[in-house]
Amino acid sequence: MCAERSYARSISLPPDEVFRNLRNAKRFAMDIGGSLAKLAYYSTVERSRAYVSASSGGDDGDGQDDHHLYEIQEQNELGARIHFVKFEMTYFEKCLDFIKENLVSSHGEMMGKVVKATGGGSHKYTNLIRDKLGLECDKEDEMQCLIQGCIFVLRNITNEAFEYQRHSPQPYKFQTMDADLFPFLLVNIGSGVSIVKVESHDKYERIGGSSIGGGSFLGLGCKLTKAKNFDELLQLASQGDHRNVDMLVRDIYGGAYSALGLPGELIASSFGKMVSAKDGEGQEFEEQDIAKSLLHTISNDIGQISCLYAQLHGLRKIYFGGFFIRGHPVTMHTITYAINFWSRGTLQALFLRHEGYLGAIGAFLKGAEEDDSEKYCWGENYAGSSGLHSTSPPPDFIPRDRTASFDRFELDRLERPLVSLPALLDPPSYFPDTVDLTEDPDARKYWLDCFEEALGKVAARAVASQPSRDDAEMRAQQFMAKYNKRLETLREHPFAYGSLTVRSLLDTREQCLNEFHFADPYQHIKQQENEAALRILPERLQHLDSLEFRARQVALAEGLLAGNVFDWGAKAITRLMEGDDSFGFEEAMSKLQARPWLVDDLDPWLERLQDHPHKCALIFADNSGLDIILGVFPFAREMVLRGTQVILCANSKPALNDVTYGELKILAKKVAELCPTIRTALSEGHLKVMASGAASPCLDLSRIDEMLSQECQRRGVDLVVLEGMGRAIHTNYHAAFSCESLKLAVLKNKWLANRLGGDVFSVIFKYTKGSKVEGKTPSKNDIGTQQPRKSPETDR
Ligand code: ADP
Repeated sequence: MCAERSYARSISLPPDEVFRNLRNAKRFAMDIGGSLAKLAYYSTVERSRAYVSASSGGDDGDGQDDHHLYEIQEQNELGARIHFVKFEMTYFEKCLDFIKENLVSSHGEMMGKVVKATGGGSHKYTNLIRDKLGLECDKEDEMQCLIQGCIFVLRNITNEAFEYQRHSPQPYKFQTMDADLFPFLLVNIGSGVSIVKVESHDKYERIGGSSIGGGSFLGLGCKLTKAKNFDELLQLASQGDHRNVDMLVRDIYGGAYSALGLPGELIASSFGKMVSAKDGEGQEFEEQDIAKSLLHTISNDIGQISCLYAQLHGLRKIYFGGFFIRGHPVTMHTITYAINFWSRGTLQALFLRHEGYLGAIGAFLKGAEEDDSEKYCWGENYAGSSGLHSTSPPPDFIPRDRTASFDRFELDRLERPLVSLPALLDPPSYFPDTVDLTEDPDARKYWLDCFEEALGKVAARAVASQPSRDDAEMRAQQFMAKYNKRLETLREHPFAYGSLTVRSLLDTREQCLNEFHFADPYQHIKQQENEAALRILPERLQHLDSLEFRARQVALAEGLLAGNVFDWGAKAITRLMEGDDSFGFEEAMSKLQARPWLVDDLDPWLERLQDHPHKCALIFADNSGLDIILGVFPFAREMVLRGTQVILCANSKPALNDVTYGELKILAKKVAELCPTIRTALSEGHLKVMASGAASPCLDLSRIDEMLSQECQRRGVDLVVLEGMGRAIHTNYHAAFSCESLKLAVLKNKWLANRLGGDVFSVIFKYTKGSKVEGKTPSKNDIGTQQPRKSPETDR
């Protein structure tokens, strides 16, 4: 029988709906609990990557360089990914069958290997796993796995932990990665409850637990209502009113019991009202009210016990894990309420976006030395992860709703470790994004609409970047469907993937493009623009050299800004550039707002330049073409001439039309051929081109390439230059550095410009002296606190 048919018999779901990329899996681990089995598998994924290499051709003798500056080649490379999925224990055997058919027997590599397994089921089902998969179970301690998994997500996953405050305008308060992680209490609410005090990576103790947990909710709930599974039960609970079945303080006292500080609405006795009901007579009780009361009872109980344990052991932070929570607002609210109530607000209840996978992650990390979390960094693959509020795979694995997103979590191994930029003033309080769209409904709607509207153009650009259109059109359609679906989810659940920001929207789009093998949609445009810009560089340098010191510094600053006008990510500019081939540097210069700029620190910057040279400037480059070549290189050259060392860095991987590290290396050589200063600076190491570690038009300075960070430290960076809307406005506008910084951008989005009190092409030139305390040296006319001058409107 062919594999496809036997697969179809056991599970009728296309493998990629739930078990993505299972056929490429190399290794897997399981956390087999009382209610759910969590499967982790490591796979290799083929990704297209655009490589640039110096062109072999050149001048053919007629004085004209007919060849391209560099050659672009798309190649496939293998990346590492960990996938996590969960399924109900009732279907455990069915899942093992599925794994056998799609993984174990399909390639010999798995033969004779072991499955790392944890949870009670790793003991109970050893024989079944051996019989079904032919693999031995390597059992790992459950507590150890849980703790390692918890530490791993807290250290690797952005916006993993959050507080939940239901009545606040922004109920989800995401935490930045915590440098002082320990000590904490971990309360894992699975079928039962485990309470663990964690003091360090390897110092922890299970100090308590409770038999009243997720299993009790599911078991009792299914008996007391018609619900057949957890999702139905949760659904019922969301519709219910527990006050119809619970006896409240006011039911006993007629109001609050003020002397004891007990509000009338407080539950005095869970299910207390049901005592009056007898079969066939008296009051009827609604099953949704019962479900809600049950959820309250159990969550309250766990909240109170956790609080007591935390107080007993002097711990302030309580993380909640386990699949009982499922990101459900009622559960999180009840637990938070209980913790606040019993601790009088002194303890912090923290939830995790990947609450249920901690044990599976820990089991996976065991024996995965090549993926040592100390050596590598992992990042969430937003294109493949389902986010909070997704549903479990249905029992029969046949999706009832083919667009439903099943609970899935994917992590991609990053090529290099990422660390904080040493020049950040206070890394724990650094938050890259300027506006959290979850807090701002107008901005959220605007940006979600904007990204939706741009989708057709992005897809068309992606298709145009491919040598053959054969399957490119189809992939582009798939990309559009996927990203559109994501935008829909975010409209409904803005918090599903942590904070919602312009950066997260852009990054998710890049990841979705990569998912469908569009490695670098702008590669040809970037190349053409780089070539065009190089042709005019000598003239530009000559012009700059003809100017007096002050005039030259002004021209250099304006050059950086004019270069920044060339941004294919901005609608206003795309229109200009698409409609007008001759749109050039001078035109861009003429578009700039006249001084005084919206934020205008040019004078203090010029004054600063009269003083001693900087030791080392770190410049994060933005767009290809005129921006990098006519804006950034001349600026870097001036710095070098002043005796300042320069680290010029670019994205490690493509994003929009931003110059990449691979391209920048070639461009630097080409510029060196035209400019002796750059040539000497490169050869003597005063100018160094580096990769930032990013693959985004925005920039998270808490996650930059470790080598870049080391180089910054070694050279003593005392000036950070951020240019472009992505790096200086959408992110980092409020970033505080311990050294001087320049944040430069031209506002090319009318809506945003209006919001900040300016208009399209308004200029931000923000120069800040290094401060020891944030906010000590604010820019003169900082846009950060300014209210919108006009009502927000879209620039469509
Ligand atoms: P365990 O490892 O003991 O199975 P989990 O952390 O997986 O623990 O949580 C199991 C609990 O999660 C269940 O008892 C139930 O309350 C809840 N739960 C969430 N989603 C589901 C689901 N799809 N099916 C069954 N239980 C679920």
